[in-house]
Amino acid sequence: MRAVVLDAVNSISTKEISLTSLGSGEVLLKVDAAGICGSDRHILHGTYPANYPVVLGHEFGGIVEEVASDSLFKAGDRVNVNPNIACRECKYCKLGIVNLCENNRAYGVNFNGGLANYVVVNERQLFALPKSIDYRFGAFCEPIACCIQGIDLAEIKAGDSVAIIGGGVIGQIMVQLVKLAGAKTIALSTRQKFRREMAESLGATHTVNPNDLSSNDLFIGQQGIAPGGFDVVIECAGTSETLQQSLEIVRRGGNVILFGVMPQGEKFEIIPFDIFVRQVRIQGVFTGSTVHQKAVDIVASQKLTLEPLITHQVGLEEVPEILAGSPLSGEVKTLVLPNS
Ligand SMILES: [Zn+2]
Ligand SMILES: [Zn+2]
Repeated sequence: MRAVVLDAVNSISTKEISLTSLGSGEVLLKVDAAGICGSDRHILHGTYPANYPVVLGHEFGGIVEEVASDSLFKAGDRVNVNPNIACRECKYCKLGIVNLCENNRAYGVNFNGGLANYVVVNERQLFALPKSIDYRFGAFCEPIACCIQGIDLAEIKAGDSVAIIGGGVIGQIMVQLVKLAGAKTIALSTRQKFRREMAESLGATHTVNPNDLSSNDLFIGQQGIAPGGFDVVIECAGTSETLQQSLEIVRRGGNVILFGVMPQGEKFEIIPFDIFVRQVRIQGVFTGSTVHQKAVDIVASQKLTLEPLITHQVGLEEVPEILAGSPLSGEVKTLVLPNS
């Protein structure tokens, strides 16, 4: 079968590999769709730790092709995968905070993932998805789970004002989840016009082009979108500029959700006194492992608009070039369809 293999940092190709045979509790999946994610670029460039060689792809769903004996699943089932495998032994696992597992390993990072025709996964990581759902939507469950984890930690309350910095797929999913959480003001900031228009069609009450900003007045000035500051700011761009801005536009006592991935080891300067007197909370979000079922349920309920987020569909052979290059023009989400 074909698979997108990362052999070492910056060494990626689509090539022929053989499938491993099924061990106890394992399932062979035929991959329907797998998402390309910003984290994959970090893994490629070595700014997010991984094991090599590895088949990339941590956002994927598929159809069960073969099961080991005594499986809860059967051939033909449509499933989605939580790629994060907790050890079940460490302090955090025992407390049920499995996303903080000290020994967390993930498909597409440490074990072979979904950017392939087939993938072998442990059935503990599988979640059933109804056959009536668009076969490509399983690839959204993992990023949606991460977003739900962020929304939960943000403690958004009815009537809140929320700023979302970044208009990629995460920003567009966040707009919808923030709206479902009852926020009254939802402002999204992104450079590209089509992304601002998309966010408006999905529920953003305001959109901003950061190029038009000479100050934060448009956000938090007296005539701004949220005078005095936003209750919650969700940073989904992963740059030091946008993190800086997030800290500037949050209100006193507000929450900044650090969702965008900054390269491992990169530093950022803060003014502790400012965080202190304004009692600002900066909250990290690592995976949606504990809320994966919620993501599957929300996809199954069709309460999120996902179709327009799929701006590009490609095959496995195209992935190395796409990952090595800069994001595609007009891209929100690129889905890889390995078998169609
Ligand atoms: Zn991802
Ligand atoms: Zn653990």
